[in-house]
Amino acid sequence: MTIITRQSAGQPTGGQFAAHTRTESPIELHSDLVAVPMAEGGVRIVPTAIADEFRGVSPGGYNVVAAFEKADGSEYLVGLTKCCNSTAKGSEDGIVCRRCYSECDPMLGGPIELSAVAPRIPAPATEPSED
Ligand SMILES: [Zn+2]
Repeated sequence: MTIITRQSAGQPTGGQFAAHTRTESPIELHSDLVAVPMAEGGVRIVPTAIADEFRGVSPGGYNVVAAFEKADGSEYLVGLTKCCNSTAKGSEDGIVCRRCYSECDPMLGGPIELSAVAPRIPAPATEPSED
């Protein structure tokens, strides 16, 4: 078993550079995305803008971010809408995306328990730091 399928995409390897410049690069579409390693294996592609706050993936497949730190030191986690990776809010029509106002899963309108989240690596620190 010596099959190596790894591709060195994005790393100039001399001879292939000329061919790469012949096309309009679609890679730029992904310049604002980052691959985050997940505890259960694989990676999750998330917008760079939420990478620092990204904690994992909730049931239903929503990106979960830490909105703020609560008084007890734990994090208040919320899921982001799939349409815009935005938080949700309540409206006359129910829970909607804060950015585009489409209806979304009601679970995005409230906090998400860390225990329900498939975590990223490194796992978020849950114990208080000892000083
Ligand atoms: Zn939206």
